[in-house]
Amino acid sequence: MSDEVIFSLFYLILSFCIVYPPVEFVSAGFTIPSLFSRVLGSEDENFVSYHIKRTIVTLGVYSILPLGYIIALFASELFENVSTLIVSGSLFWKIFFTTSLALPVLALYQIRNWMIDDFKYHPIAINLGKFCNNNNRDWKSVASDINAEFRRIDKICVRTNSLIKVIATENWILKVTPFTVLTAHQSDASLVVQKADTHQISLQTTSETQYLSIEVKSGRQNVDSFVIRINASDFKDLEDRIARDITIPANVKFHKTVMEQFVEVFKATIKSNARYETTEELDQCIGCMQTRPNVKLQKLCGDASGRNDSCMTCYCKPMWCADCMAKWFASRQESDQQSTWLSSKCTCPMCRSRFCILDVSLLDNTDAEE
Ligand SMILES: [Zn+2]
Ligand SMILES: [Zn+2]
Ligand SMILES: [Zn+2]
Repeated sequence: MSDEVIFSLFYLILSFCIVYPPVEFVSAGFTIPSLFSRVLGSEDENFVSYHIKRTIVTLGVYSILPLGYIIALFASELFENVSTLIVSGSLFWKIFFTTSLALPVLALYQIRNWMIDDFKYHPIAINLGKFCNNNNRDWKSVASDINAEFRRIDKICVRTNSLIKVIATENWILKVTPFTVLTAHQSDASLVVQKADTHQISLQTTSETQYLSIEVKSGRQNVDSFVIRINASDFKDLEDRIARDITIPANVKFHKTVMEQFVEVFKATIKSNARYETTEELDQCIGCMQTRPNVKLQKLCGDASGRNDSCMTCYCKPMWCADCMAKWFASRQESDQQSTWLSSKCTCPMCRSRFCILDVSLLDNTDAEE
């Protein structure tokens, strides 16, 4: 390979890494936001202004990449005849050279348009302007609401990749992309999981990561819907932060957490145990305070060996629901030995008498479908 080809390949890869930084570049701080952090200011202090500046810098940097190539060629003296290449070179070269000069000019023109009237025509300002309820408010008052909410620690921030991140604050859902920030107000947004796709993390492990694509549709006029893509493990955080329910259509299957899976298996297993008859008045489950207790611990497993790990008799009245009992059971097991959880033992949360899964009885008035 000639030097020029190697140089061109190197520049191409470098450009690609600037546009779409790989993990190594991100951790080394070699991304547009970190290289220009002084110009951009603090995202926490002024979220909207930070991202307006970031889009401008991004456009500027992208637009000079081709010109940078030609300048670097000159500087490297690889092509002693760069000037002749441009003047009398092929049509391709002439087009490339003209384009590389035109891009920064066009970018400057675009940036100037964005800056008119204090960024009124910038895509971010236009997006925010759609949330002004009346003429007294302009996009800046929406921006200051968002800034204030972003400063709080209760927001969640999920990075989809090196270019895109999703932020949920108390009232807003924001998707940060290279050239804009897509916005939805939670009060009128509906969220629907579109699909779940599974990826193997690496060739060495068998563990898989699942990603969910969630469509955020705004009920507000002119506000475009957008899709956010998050790791399934971040789903719970997002769901907790968002005031609206996230609809999961029946055809979308996504992995449950180990705990959720265990609760299901636990409940299915205790269904075949003998029931416990009671007419006692029962309060709410003391684990979740949301449902009536529906399980009772009673020694049924026939383990009479008298060893010091054998099951014992629990005299507590039913105080727990099956979900909470399953979670309690799981929480007392070694977290890295999930395969033995079901065959392990646990102690009653109240009296600490030992029990196994065979000793967990549903109350006889419990609906079997529950
Ligand atoms: Zn409960
Ligand atoms: Zn007990
Ligand atoms: Zn037992």
